[in-house]
Amino acid sequence: MPFECRGCWHVWQEDYVVRRSEDDHGNEGEVWLSAGLRVPPPSGAICPQCGSEQATTFPDGYLSRHPELIPPVGPAVPDATPLLSPVPKPLY
Ligand SMILES: [Zn+2]
Repeated sequence: MPFECRGCWHVWQEDYVVRRSEDDHGNEGEVWLSAGLRVPPPSGAICPQCGSEQATTFPDGYLSRHPELIPPVGPAVPDATPLLSPVPKPLY
């Protein structure tokens, strides 16, 4: 579930599962699950960057249309190709 901070426009993602359910009275409700545990809806999600509580969620598929908003995960994988020998050595 992608989030966006309205204070600093920081974008981050948290793993939530939203299950829609109906109770006996036909009222539709949403159950939010994080790591298999029921959690309150993240309407008050706190920005990890500036601490603002003015965070909002993206509609589904938004980030797939704006991949530039997704922060890189972890350090970049170093190029395994050694720089010292750009020409492959002969095998014999
Ligand atoms: Zn923020």
